[in-house]
Amino acid sequence: MSKRDSGGLGCLVVSAVLFAIWGIVQVEPELPDVPDVPGEQLVAISIAILGAISFFGICFILLKYQKKRKRRKRIEQLNQQVEETAGRIAQCARNNFTAKACSRCYESEVEMVRISPSARSILLKCRNCGKEQWAKAATENAAKILNDDAHLGGLLVRLGQLYEENVTASIVFPVVEVREDIKRERLPEGVRNEIWRRDGGRCVQCGSQKDLEFDHIIPVSEGGANTARNLQLLCEACNRSKGAKI
Ligand SMILES: [Zn+2]
Ligand SMILES: [Zn+2]
Repeated sequence: MSKRDSGGLGCLVVSAVLFAIWGIVQVEPELPDVPDVPGEQLVAISIAILGAISFFGICFILLKYQKKRKRRKRIEQLNQQVEETAGRIAQCARNNFTAKACSRCYESEVEMVRISPSARSILLKCRNCGKEQWAKAATENAAKILNDDAHLGGLLVRLGQLYEENVTASIVFPVVEVREDIKRERLPEGVRNEIWRRDGGRCVQCGSQKDLEFDHIIPVSEGGANTARNLQLLCEACNRSKGAKI
């Protein structure tokens, strides 16, 4: 609102200047030997009109510019909030639902399509082949996904009003095999130590010492056992790319 105040001040200053000009023009005819010249008054009136037009023109442009800047800032804010909320939804989906890699092509990156009304399951779509599959809720926190989803819906409506068209957000994330995590926890201490010693505490594929996981060479779902012979150390990246290639 300070702009409007300064606009008012500007208006006052311009009026004062115009009034002064008018005053000078009024005084001039009193000089001796100079008769009343209507031409000069005409010039003064023209200047006053021109001044008023340019003043209101500038005010109009300033207001329009300010409105535009406000709109842009609001869109920026909303977009950031959408990004944050979509990120929270993806995190919640990863952590609280039994999301699995695509059963057709083993792609691990999925897109969330929708949530069942009670959040007992979410529909995921493979980013590679488009196959859809439901992921069931695995924890009690799963229902919290509904809050963030409702919040996201509200943000998208507001953003849509500013853009004057429908806006959607896609929630994409790589799935984590929750069950594999549980199995890894159950590996006996002795077996874990044996594998660690044998593989030298490094990923057997790339040698990395970061984010190591115990990987079943033959998956448990295909009859692979929890023995050192069937297990190897893989870093998270190699393990994920292996899952996608099988
Ligand atoms: Zn697929
Ligand atoms: Zn590796």
